[in-house]
Amino acid sequence: MISRFNNYNLTHHNTFGLPASCDFFVEYDSVPDFQAFLRENPDFAQTPHFHIGGGSNLVFTDHYRGTILHSAIKGKEVNESADDVLIKVGAGEDWDGFVEWCVEHGYYGLENLSFIPGEVGASAVQNIGAYGVEAGDFIVEVEAVCLSTGELQTFDVQACKYAYRHSVFKAELSGKYAVTHVVFRLSKVFKPNYTYGALQATMVAKGIDAPTAQQLRAAVIEIRNAKLPHPSVLGSAGSFFMNPVVDEAMFLDIQKAYPQIPHYAAPQGVKISAGWLIEQCGWKGKRVGNVGVYDKQALVLVNYGGASGKDVKDLSLRIVADVKEKFGIELRPEANFI
Ligand SMILES: Cc1cc2nc3c(=O)[nH]c(=O)nc-3n(C[C@H](O)[C@H](O)[C@H](O)COP(=O)(O)OP(=O)(O)OC[C@H]3O[C@@H](n4cnc5c(N)ncnc54)[C@H](O)[C@@H]3O)c2cc1C
Repeated sequence: MISRFNNYNLTHHNTFGLPASCDFFVEYDSVPDFQAFLRENPDFAQTPHFHIGGGSNLVFTDHYRGTILHSAIKGKEVNESADDVLIKVGAGEDWDGFVEWCVEHGYYGLENLSFIPGEVGASAVQNIGAYGVEAGDFIVEVEAVCLSTGELQTFDVQACKYAYRHSVFKAELSGKYAVTHVVFRLSKVFKPNYTYGALQATMVAKGIDAPTAQQLRAAVIEIRNAKLPHPSVLGSAGSFFMNPVVDEAMFLDIQKAYPQIPHYAAPQGVKISAGWLIEQCGWKGKRVGNVGVYDKQALVLVNYGGASGKDVKDLSLRIVADVKEKFGIELRPEANFI
């Protein structure tokens, strides 16, 4: 089925709660229906369009003069073997609902990604990550419809080019494909991964040394609830900026002045905590009109109510300028501006 609306309100389609609308909103719940829509609209790919998921990483800055697409494709197909399982999931499934279902059914690997807002399709676009795990570690294939030809194509994990919060769908194929299904390979044998800072500390505090998958998921949810605002209470897009990766020489220079700087090894150098950089510039907990920097996590910009996309953008630019001036590092937004 295809649902179409004109002059559509998007306020409830973004977790920031920003006022926005679009000329056209098109939602589809099957691949054949979406392909039929593209056949009826052969020039669609040449017209302004943007595909959203649950809107949890978006900043709408204005009325969108074009078509907003949304996948409502649901369902899970399970193919079990002795030790592992392949699960093909519809792009429109709620991400955390899927993770919860996996834990309940004894399919393991995604526990650390519990409670991340959004939908399954976007997990494969964004390569979502948390507590030392990324979606791309478990993705086998992504199915997507080409908006120019209507053809359904399969991308194996190499073709997805996953890196930190990055995929081919965010880069050279941005705006060209609609992700319809994602195939994950999960294990039937639970191997907890809780070596990551806060997660390990929580397990130690609870006196748990061999957590079950349910305990690991519960700990992740507890930590996230303590340090991230829930979109139903305070609007946000989660981590607003990416953690910058700098070369070794630059890192050592900064470390001389700030020996306590949190950092991690990264493929192209040293990854620095963007939240720490923002905090050092005095932004943590600061409010500017209706927007501000969350008081428990400096990486999160929040809407206290009534903010516009321009307010969010202006605040983010001030933060970027301050970090650049103090550390010489240019922060890049993780959130998508539209
Ligand atoms: C409180 C909070 C906490 C968060 N914590 C984390 C975290 O720990 N780790 C993390 O990685 N992220 C985190 N995020 C960010 C966000 O949850 C993820 O980026 C998520 O994957 C976005 O999913 P979505 O369905 O809302 O996608 P949207 O925000 O709607 O879209 C994100 C991108 O995916 C594209 N897209 C979405 N669906 C499709 C599709 N079917 N086909 C083609 N393109 C598509 C969009 O074009 C856009 O580029 C957090 C956000 C919030 C609000």
